[in-house]
Amino acid sequence: MTEYRTNTKQSFTPSNSEFAIEYNLKFEHVGQHLIDVSMTFTAQAQQELWLPVWVPGSYLIREFARHVSTLSATVLDQETPRNINIEKITKNRWRLNCEAGEKVIVHYQVYAFDLSVRGAYLDHTRAYANPACVCLAVAGQEQQAIQLTINSGQVFAKQPIACSLPKYEAIQSTEKNTTHSYSANKYDDLIDHPFEIAEQSISHFDVNGIPHSIAISGRHRTNMTRLASDLVKICRYEVDFFGSAPFTNYLFMVMATGSSYGGLEHQNCTSLITPREDLPHGNEAEQPSAAYRRFLGLCSHEYFHAWMIKFVRPQEFAVLDLEREVYTRMLWVFEGFTSYYDDLILYRSGVIERAAYLELLAEQITRYRQNAGREHQSVSDSSFDAWIKYYRPDENSQNATTSYYNKGALIGLCLDLTLRERGSSLDAVMRQLYQLAQQGQSLRANTIPDICEQLIGDRLNDFWLNYVEGTTELPLEIMLDAVGVQTAVESKVWPFGLKTTDSPHGLVIQQVLRDSVGAHAGLSAHDTLIAVDGIRATTSLLTHWADATGFHAKACADAGTLLTCHVFRRDELMTFQIQPVASAIHTIRLSVTHPERLTHWLEPVGSI
Ligand SMILES: [Zn+2]
Repeated sequence: MTEYRTNTKQSFTPSNSEFAIEYNLKFEHVGQHLIDVSMTFTAQAQQELWLPVWVPGSYLIREFARHVSTLSATVLDQETPRNINIEKITKNRWRLNCEAGEKVIVHYQVYAFDLSVRGAYLDHTRAYANPACVCLAVAGQEQQAIQLTINSGQVFAKQPIACSLPKYEAIQSTEKNTTHSYSANKYDDLIDHPFEIAEQSISHFDVNGIPHSIAISGRHRTNMTRLASDLVKICRYEVDFFGSAPFTNYLFMVMATGSSYGGLEHQNCTSLITPREDLPHGNEAEQPSAAYRRFLGLCSHEYFHAWMIKFVRPQEFAVLDLEREVYTRMLWVFEGFTSYYDDLILYRSGVIERAAYLELLAEQITRYRQNAGREHQSVSDSSFDAWIKYYRPDENSQNATTSYYNKGALIGLCLDLTLRERGSSLDAVMRQLYQLAQQGQSLRANTIPDICEQLIGDRLNDFWLNYVEGTTELPLEIMLDAVGVQTAVESKVWPFGLKTTDSPHGLVIQQVLRDSVGAHAGLSAHDTLIAVDGIRATTSLLTHWADATGFHAKACADAGTLLTCHVFRRDELMTFQIQPVASAIHTIRLSVTHPERLTHWLEPVGSI
């Protein structure tokens, strides 16, 4: 059994020589995906228990309480234990009918079959949980010290555990069970440490004296040596970039699957889920493949969050209310700037080449240009509405919303280039934010303008007004040109403003770009386009028609002819007339025309 090397520097001292709240987890119903939980504590008057409705880092109400069942409670400190009544009082709260001062044990089960990094998952191959989904909080006692005991049960008795909480007691192991014991200073700390027991490939590495580990579960054949050597470069760059780390150990917890992708940041670990193809293989070329580059970008992104959002926080996140939405207008900073730096750091740390970085940046710009919603929603509004929009995309999202990741990253680029033109940089802003957080300050709306004034003597008021509060188009071409990078059109996509997929029944329209030729014709998302001008509809036919240089389109345009589209909407055949004019959006390519101008932005590699 390989063991995750836990931190020995973190100290823990429970306030009263014992823990106020103890959770005990068992995995005896793996086939039914049920985690058995028991928790003990001393009740207060009208004691209530509650479960978070969302998990920090993912801004959607997820209602974890819907997976909790079979609650029962018993008073322990009597000669005959007494069962007590539990009343459900809201969707995520329970009230215990017991007296203040009584020691109580509560049992319940949690259905755990959510593979995402935000949830809990149990089957015979893997036990994984964010404690926010599994451990009920004891109302009024959230600041009390906690012991978490995880009993592997026979299925996982020989499997390693990955968890970045401080260990409280040594592992106790028998043939039938292995007990892992951890401590947390308070409930918020507990829920910021997911755990996983599964077959894992584990590597340890050191970054400026700070122990790091990566544990990968799921079927995979990762070149762990290569992965660790690239992660060392990325992590070292980020620690050096900020000057120190807000953690004393760090864990990358990775699940390899067929196609799932995602990551969630925590204080001193991250939980990632990735397609196994994105992990480096035995013959990984010196320059990472596009797939491996994507995984490294995910690692770089979540690791950056250890500073930006886990340590430097928006003012509204200083104390999190996990029972309702917590609104901030600054996710464009925390997700956007993190998205700017995640790829940039791959280049600056020497893991990818400059051309590869420019490819990633071009993809980011292409996504921005393809998003018609950028003209209708600011990133400030997009941050605020994350709870009802970003995490609930539909066929209209592209037309009505802006991604605070995507546009936030490009605002980061424009701000960086603006500051560099005037002798400073976004790097300097980030370091100041970290220093302010070290002094106990969170980020307010005027914090970044204040820092800009300090750095370049200008609060850049128009910049925020135009690009953050407003929907003014970002001046990407002009700003990139000034640092010697030229923007060119690579290829056309979305003919007639239609995003389609081929199917045996025709072209299924996924999205229709706002104000496009397709939208004006009346075509709609979910339509199945079966013929254009009497010919079976395919992607290549549509692309051909949308190209103004195409013979047919030109001929039709000359004749002023409209094209007839046959479409199934629901199960009814309908016809629409479409203008055969050039209409498509473009993907972008970037190339360096004046390398000498890049000096203060992309060069020299590794310089901080
Ligand atoms: Zn993020």
